[in-house]
Amino acid sequence: MNAARTTCPYCGVGCGVVAQRDERGVVTVRGDERHPANFGRLCVKGAALGETTGLAGRLLYPEVEGERVSWARALDEAGGRLRAIIDQHGPQAVAFYASGQLLTEDYYAANKLMKGFIGAANIDTNSRLCMSSAVVGYKRAFGADAVPCSYEDVEQTDLLILVGANAAWAHPVLYQRIAAAKQARPEMKIVVIDPRRTATCDIADKHLAIKPGSDAGLFVGLLALIDEQACDFDGASDAFAVAREWSLERVADFCGVTADDVARFYDDFLSAPRVMTLYTMGINQSSSGSDKCNAIINLHLASGKIGRPGCGPFSLTGQPNAMGGREVGGLANQLACHMNFEPADIARLGRFWGSERIAHTPGLMAVELFDAIGRGEVKAVWVMGTNPAVSLPDSDRVRTALAACPLVIVSEVAAQTDTGCFAHIRFPALAWGEKNGTVTNSERRISRQRPFLDAPGDARADWWIVAQMAQRLGFSEAFGWAHPHEVFCEHAALSGFENDGARAFDISGLAGLSRAEYDALEPVQWPINAANPQGAARLLTQRRGWRKEGKLQMVAVTPQLPQAQVNAQYPLLLNTGRIRDQWHTMTRTGEVPRLMQHIPLPQLDVHPEDAARYGLFPQALARVSSPLGWMVAKVNVTAAQRPGALFAPMHWNDRFARQGRVNALVAPVVDPHSGQPESKQTAVRVEAW
Ligand code: SF4
Repeated sequence: MNAARTTCPYCGVGCGVVAQRDERGVVTVRGDERHPANFGRLCVKGAALGETTGLAGRLLYPEVEGERVSWARALDEAGGRLRAIIDQHGPQAVAFYASGQLLTEDYYAANKLMKGFIGAANIDTNSRLCMSSAVVGYKRAFGADAVPCSYEDVEQTDLLILVGANAAWAHPVLYQRIAAAKQARPEMKIVVIDPRRTATCDIADKHLAIKPGSDAGLFVGLLALIDEQACDFDGASDAFAVAREWSLERVADFCGVTADDVARFYDDFLSAPRVMTLYTMGINQSSSGSDKCNAIINLHLASGKIGRPGCGPFSLTGQPNAMGGREVGGLANQLACHMNFEPADIARLGRFWGSERIAHTPGLMAVELFDAIGRGEVKAVWVMGTNPAVSLPDSDRVRTALAACPLVIVSEVAAQTDTGCFAHIRFPALAWGEKNGTVTNSERRISRQRPFLDAPGDARADWWIVAQMAQRLGFSEAFGWAHPHEVFCEHAALSGFENDGARAFDISGLAGLSRAEYDALEPVQWPINAANPQGAARLLTQRRGWRKEGKLQMVAVTPQLPQAQVNAQYPLLLNTGRIRDQWHTMTRTGEVPRLMQHIPLPQLDVHPEDAARYGLFPQALARVSSPLGWMVAKVNVTAAQRPGALFAPMHWNDRFARQGRVNALVAPVVDPHSGQPESKQTAVRVEAW
């Protein structure tokens, strides 16, 4: 019997899993009681992981133009074509599009190859769609992409605010922890701020059903009161000056709630000794998402409710290793280990990697990357472990771009994906249960994903595939790893290299791990260095020191509504998001029959008034259209929606419902600072189908 303590590959909660395969090949899983993220709990997706490990539908062998070939032939072919494009058109003509599903070791290798040796920064990731606004918020406020809180803080707070976060469905085990904390301490208040009445509201003392996209108004108005009554932050006159223009009545009008509700919420915040604000896609996926993040962080900086137990702004990541991707520099606008495109950092990376080819300028972010492919400027793209033909906004335009791209390489687990259909060359990657490496969850906790299954067919680790490609491109020496342990130690060493403490991300304490120590590594929160050998639960505990050094900044935020505005032709606002039992584009969870039972078809949530106005009946089909495309979904009439606002899940792909792809409707409007698309608001019309 093979068994392993490993980590769930779905959401950013990062639950520990004990998995084992018996002699008959049956895989069973249970929650890991020793893992500090979940203490043995699992949600329905995690509990069904054993049902996703079969080989039906797996991509098991390399392919070139649809023909099965050897690894040597596939790598030679891909390397030769990439080299020819680089030689003829320069390094900016190639791009990688990676995934928060990759392990840190895979991500590190891909980022190193692109930014360190090919010499362009065109590596971006599906995490751009998920939390890049949160990154901008932290960097502007703290000078570092540093999440200050831990999950244990939800058990120690007095007021817990969930905004733009349906944790009950998207982060279920964290939600269970919050529910258990509420049961143990009923005096802990929970406020949910969300246009929809979601399942998360079941444990809330108050639900503020604000107008879609109006969140920042609520926070900016509160900042003015903190300035008057409880300010713990010198300076920041710009942020306070803007806030003073937002009276209670103006906030109530902007947010579409009563002034009494706003006043009560403000009282709750001001009177609670410890406050946490948890936020995710409802904040981040906005044309002003970065500003919304800073509007939240401003409240905690101004009130001093940060850097101590039960306090702080806490962005929840969507994916198992979105944080690891941030750490290795997997976003096109940052370098490895949270370094920036500044001369000192570029030189530092060059010294560490022994390369004179370090990218000097930021690369293309997800939406603009596929635009550049469509214009013919990027002539080769390597997609790793993600499905942009379904998940990116204006996904039909993404498909057109991929169809015209001279070279599309796809590293995948599944044989049939919407994006894989466009591939000239396909590499079979290892899946969960076979992979070996690390991930970092929302609370900065690094955990091991350990293998308990043999590699099937010719499937290989992503880091190995990248290293082999690097050798074909002439960079053998820098990619000579034999095991993910070597990749991880190199990454850890880089985090401490010439780091005088200015860079918050520092795991140099793990750089000297032996192979056995790496295999046995227990979950640990960074920083892990000489000052924090056992890791650290919280950052900014020395807040006044950070403030003195000028590291803490409040950002002046002027609240803005979504760019998508309704009109006579498109009178409704469509929100998109996750449902409880599916993951991303369903390439894995769609294969598990019991996970398909919860919501088996694309669904459209509609308020009863809108259903009556547009002639929609429960369980009947509706056609939803935007200027970019249309979809068909089953109608769910529910008072959980605000009138004028619809909701549809983001998951369905061509295989499960060709006409159920919601991203065919979503406009590629992005936040100017983060490049994150405004996936939460699209102006649409609806009619019976
Ligand atoms: Fe996996 Fe997230 Fe569920 Fe935990 S909460 S079991 S990490 S999907």
